[in-house]
Amino acid sequence: MSKSLQAIRGMNDILPEQTPLWRYFEGTVARLLDNYGYKQIRMPIVEFTELFKRSIGEVTDIVEKEMYTFEDRNGDSLTLRPEGTAACVRAVLEHGLTGAGQPQKLWYIGPMFRHERPQKGRYRQFHQIGLEVFNIDGPDIDAELIVLTWRLWGLLGIRDAVKLELNSLGTSESRGRYKVALVEYLSAHLDKLDEDSQRRLKTNPLRVLDTKNADTQAVLLNAPKMADYLDDESRIHFEGLKARLDAAGIPFVINTKLVRGLDYYSKTVFEWVTDKLGAQGTVCAGGRYDGLVEQMGGKPTTGVGFAMGIERLILLLETLERVPEEISRQVDVYLCAFGEAAELAALALSEKVRDQLPNLRLQVNAGAGSFKSQFKKADKSGALYALILGDDELAQQVIGFKPLRGQGEQQNIAFDALAAHLATCVVQG
Ligand code: ATP
Ligand code: MG
Repeated sequence: MSKSLQAIRGMNDILPEQTPLWRYFEGTVARLLDNYGYKQIRMPIVEFTELFKRSIGEVTDIVEKEMYTFEDRNGDSLTLRPEGTAACVRAVLEHGLTGAGQPQKLWYIGPMFRHERPQKGRYRQFHQIGLEVFNIDGPDIDAELIVLTWRLWGLLGIRDAVKLELNSLGTSESRGRYKVALVEYLSAHLDKLDEDSQRRLKTNPLRVLDTKNADTQAVLLNAPKMADYLDDESRIHFEGLKARLDAAGIPFVINTKLVRGLDYYSKTVFEWVTDKLGAQGTVCAGGRYDGLVEQMGGKPTTGVGFAMGIERLILLLETLERVPEEISRQVDVYLCAFGEAAELAALALSEKVRDQLPNLRLQVNAGAGSFKSQFKKADKSGALYALILGDDELAQQVIGFKPLRGQGEQQNIAFDALAAHLATCVVQG
């Protein structure tokens, strides 16, 4: 097939058989966030390149090598968003949503773009649901973000498969002091570090902590720990968060090497990880970014948020076989009509039924082949009932009503009584 007729590598179609699971997942999250009082915001998927450089940081994997950047017709450098926080902060500032120090609890959903090596759980266009909270300082809100994700895992039936990892990165001052100590220690062991870590030591030393290289990991065993450099404010915040998670009964582990790939985090960082998806095990990640809004030109405004990867969570639901059976059945009643007069009558009748039962999931299949082939389709659709309308039924102003899943015999129902009859046997959403 010619290349232009194929999707771009790492960018996937979500096919009709997959969309019920996506909608189930997205609907579950949206309802949960509504219930916690979060409001949805929708940002464009393209922003000025500068926005991402400024907020994410010049020496991060994303900005150094993963962004889809292009010049538009005006000569402006634009970038397909690699994540949502930068654009969300931009929108909040632009519209003064936190101007007077008022709290905001926001969420968004949509595609993100990163030029990475595509593999299971890692794509070039992927989808996130993200939350951002502004102007709420204490550990209560960090805890709320975590308890609501814990509740989500419960709703989805995947609690047993995910583990919470926590760390505190302190304020930028205490992180600065830690960086000096870390660089000093690592410089003394330079020859034992892998090449990438040697480079990171100069550009972004904290990132050495999440190396995958075994020799470097061995060196790190005796490296100074951030926990010993935490300022009082960050330490008290972190203790407060841990106490709240304990009180809520949410298990967690402290991972002192958790630093996250973006520059803007401070104090709390966390990840929900699973060992069921191979190397791409982080399904949800985030943390506090108290300095970001100011760094982007706003008034001092605290922030905390996270993003979850929808593809990875969908993969996890499939892997653990936690896909509810009923979500793929989108039809309750399937109407088969035979012959021109019956087809005409079927359209009028079905519209009348819809007037009375607006939520009825009724698929009309008129003029689509023999009785046998239509009936096969009715069965394949997953519908609970078939309605059959031919010349004989039309003459008597009745319609054949046939249960497809073994709930009784076929019977004729008068046109006028059809809606009332369906109302008794189909649960309507
Ligand atoms: P990773 O370490 O896996 O690259 P990350 O730290 O770059 O993740 P974040 O920027 O924190 O990821 O994004 C939050 C979540 O979005 C991740 O935990 C993951 O679930 C998802 N995600 C990130 N990048 C991708 C991708 N390329 N494809 C699919 N999902 C992704
Ligand atoms: Mg990444």
